[in-house]
Amino acid sequence: MPDYEAVIGLEVHAQLKTASKLFCSCSTAFGSEPNENVCEVCSGMPGVLPVLNRTAVEYAVKMGLAVNCEINERSVFARKNYFYPDLPAGYQISQYESPLCGPGHLDVETSAGPRRIGITRIHMENDAGKNIHSSAENVSYVDLNRAGVPLIEIVSDPDIRTSEEAVAYLKGLRSILLYLGICDGNLEEGSFRCDANVSIRPRGQAEFGTRAELKNLNSFRNVQRAIDYEIGRQADLLDDGEAVVQETRLYDAGRNTTASMRGKEEAHDYRYFPDPDLIPIQLERAWIEKWAAELPELPRERRERMAAEYDLPAEDARILTEEKGLADYFEAAVAAYDAPKKIANWMVGEFLRRLNETHTAAEDAAMGPESLAALVALIDKGTISGKIAKDVFPDLFASGRAPEEYVKAKGLVQISDAGAIEAAVDAVIAANPAEVEAYRGGKTKLMGFFVGQVMRETRGKANPQLVNELLQGRLG
Ligand code: ADP
Ligand code: MG
Ligand code: ZN
Repeated sequence: MPDYEAVIGLEVHAQLKTASKLFCSCSTAFGSEPNENVCEVCSGMPGVLPVLNRTAVEYAVKMGLAVNCEINERSVFARKNYFYPDLPAGYQISQYESPLCGPGHLDVETSAGPRRIGITRIHMENDAGKNIHSSAENVSYVDLNRAGVPLIEIVSDPDIRTSEEAVAYLKGLRSILLYLGICDGNLEEGSFRCDANVSIRPRGQAEFGTRAELKNLNSFRNVQRAIDYEIGRQADLLDDGEAVVQETRLYDAGRNTTASMRGKEEAHDYRYFPDPDLIPIQLERAWIEKWAAELPELPRERRERMAAEYDLPAEDARILTEEKGLADYFEAAVAAYDAPKKIANWMVGEFLRRLNETHTAAEDAAMGPESLAALVALIDKGTISGKIAKDVFPDLFASGRAPEEYVKAKGLVQISDAGAIEAAVDAVIAANPAEVEAYRGGKTKLMGFFVGQVMRETRGKANPQLVNELLQGRLG
């Protein structure tokens, strides 16, 4: 059986966070009453004219600039014709031959090293509405609130070779969108959506194999699992002497399989033609330059700066800068207490774990950056031990209480008074004569045992360094 290599290209749809829709002034607010934000334009009435949202163009260009794309000063809207109940006009307004942004690329880190993924194009289009099927009532509803919301479609070159690379690329795009502040990046709510084109070929073969397009990938985990499943399915087909069919397949997360949804439509099926209601976009050089100058520090730059400025391990810097909110949190904590490495440690460990468990964004955490900084300071000052800090962390994280006040109220302040610890040391030595003899006979490894016993006596509050010193004095 040949060794196969996968070839993957991703199509990403990102909803732009403009206040109004792409071609009308309806609100883009998520969670409104069904069909609350709808007008003649976005409900596809005949005889009304679309008017382009300038901010959407600005956002799309900024994304293009952030991923090294050529920006086309002239681009054209085209009608993509198809019928579906959530598309009342009978066509989507998209861009076809002349997209807003041309070739670019994104560099990603993978376990096999850095990889550069080409971006074919970024174009603008409007979103469709939503069909809601009620099996209880045996009817379907159409909600047009989403119809007309601006999207950018980011199409990658078929440069991706593994599901890991696909996820790294997607995380990289999402991170940039969030840094730019132009998209929520929410996979579950669908403000960041991805279709994966997957094919395989015998390793070493130049031509691509036939691809399947996977849909319904609403988490990074599902992207990874769907691609891996699909690679296996295609390999089985080829091994059995069968052919892969070009088609659109739907991922079923519950069963972790993909199933055929429909045959693949070709571009000519859509009867693309330039939209006669919209004049081509003609960008002035000065606008592009202004938008380029307005770009914020992007994830890659921030990662490199933070690694150098705070002397962080590369992996910590990568994790801390993936989300802008996390990086802001880190820098606020360091401003409050100048111990970047320790703060990074707590954030990459305890803090991130709890954010993930509670599905909370760093900026929404009850425990603010000053609290985390204060906790690290308490350990440094010897007020509490690292062990106690770990124990109280979940409470502090959930409540947002000030660490200093909290450890005092709970009586957790570390005992750094030698007199108080001596009593415990004496008690432990008296209670364990056999171990004491063994220790004096050369089994110095028993020190850990004695320290543990003293910590138990003091309910974890004794200053461990002091315990060590006192024990060494007594046993030595
Ligand atoms: P369509 O618009 O019909 O989906 P495109 O040519 O725009 O087709 O390609 C869509 C995506 O499919 C792109 O990301 C591209 O990189 C990817 N792609 C094209 N050919 C292959 C292939 N043989 N295997 C995997 N991905 C592919
Ligand atoms: Mg496609
Ligand atoms: Zn409208």
